[in-house]
Amino acid sequence: MDGNAVNEPSFRESVDLMFNRAVQLMELPPGLEDKIRVCNSTYTVRFGVKLRGEIKTFTGYRSVHSEHMEPVKGGIRYALGVNQDEVEALAALMTYKCALVETPFGGSKGGLCIDPREYDEDELERITRRFAYELAKRDLIDPAQNVPAPDMGTGEREMAWIADQYARMNTTDINARACVTGKPPHAGGIQGRVEATGRGVQYALQEFFRHPDDVAEAGLSGSLEGKRVIVQGLGNVGYHAAKFLAEEDGAKVIAVIERDGALVDEAGLDVDAVSSWIRTHGGVKGYSTHYVEEGAPVLEHDCDILIPAALEGVINLGNADRIKAPLIIEAANGPVTAGADEILRGKGTVIIPDMYANAGGVTVSYFEWVKNLSHIRFGRMQRRQEEARHQLIVDELERISSDSSIQWTLSPDFKQKYLRGAGELELVRSGLDDTMRGAYQAMREVWRARDDVTDLRTAAYIVAIDRVAASYRAKGL
Ligand code: GLU
Repeated sequence: MDGNAVNEPSFRESVDLMFNRAVQLMELPPGLEDKIRVCNSTYTVRFGVKLRGEIKTFTGYRSVHSEHMEPVKGGIRYALGVNQDEVEALAALMTYKCALVETPFGGSKGGLCIDPREYDEDELERITRRFAYELAKRDLIDPAQNVPAPDMGTGEREMAWIADQYARMNTTDINARACVTGKPPHAGGIQGRVEATGRGVQYALQEFFRHPDDVAEAGLSGSLEGKRVIVQGLGNVGYHAAKFLAEEDGAKVIAVIERDGALVDEAGLDVDAVSSWIRTHGGVKGYSTHYVEEGAPVLEHDCDILIPAALEGVINLGNADRIKAPLIIEAANGPVTAGADEILRGKGTVIIPDMYANAGGVTVSYFEWVKNLSHIRFGRMQRRQEEARHQLIVDELERISSDSSIQWTLSPDFKQKYLRGAGELELVRSGLDDTMRGAYQAMREVWRARDDVTDLRTAAYIVAIDRVAASYRAKGL
């Protein structure tokens, strides 16, 4: 992958530059502007774990960007490149993301400098529990104050260990399970959390394509059907986004870029087959004759929609002017640097920004947190009652039809669909879809109504900052 070009600001500076671009179009008191921009605190912890007969020291971070609402929320990332600058940038993005999709949280993020592939499961559990212990003891994991979630390099398994570690340290906390989200369903998680971020990317694109004027801004037309998509990173987010777009919306995934190269096939790739190949072989190499060794230049191929779904900074000053995609949706956090953003804006590329595009994860995390606090699964009380009421209508319709002179029948498909009350997964998807539609509309209203706002990212920042500012004002600041 292309590294950031020389003279490129750091990730945190990049986020600040984008923030500044938006606030200069707002009328906030300068003091409040600074208060919102700065990161409140970053805790660095170094701890030792005895592994393979020797003590290994790890460095981890938990950064709290804004506590205008509590708990603060954001994932924990396991990667070798984790550093304070990155964690602070990601925490800031969490603040704006949560405000944009109206989840009642402040912004936070954590990270551990580790390559998880170097350790076996047992070792990872000991490392994770020790990290969780260090954070929980300082209230940096707490259902009311700071609620982590998965991010790059972590998933359900790590979240279950964290939840259990917190419960062991807080044996009488009845809400202990709400201390972390993204847990497996059998350990207090919620249906649909694993797919949530990718599903959110799909819902975001569906909403974008409901607005022909917006689609035209990107020089595109029509629906998602047949659109040629390039996905960079077929991890949890990229995989689910690509799969749903291909299977449900008729989009064509013409390239997948991974660490060890890319697959390019104009006829469309089978996302599930590619994903299972990556899982068993550790990369895309050898999958088929469509393999190319140099992955980075594939970002510059001709396509309709480019989905960077891996690392930050992959579209930067070094390649921005060669990016051909007219529409980019940022499934990853910060994949486009501030400098690249400017170049792309100049070219008329439409960018659906990260703080909106990948907000599906935290949205479903919110549902999980609410579920944990209410100690009941969504739909448990009303599902059968809803089915009984639907049955009443169907029975009545069938009675009328048998009595009337005009003979008609309900199709079995209609009956089956209508009679089924919504389970947790359907409710989660419905809540997520509603959230993604609402947030897009809030963003586009600013984008469309104001002459001085020419891109969706600035619009997203304006909506988010406005809400955070209102929250601070309500606190008397
Ligand atoms: N790590 C995810 C993100 O960047 C999810 C955060 C959460 O669910 O709290 O949005």
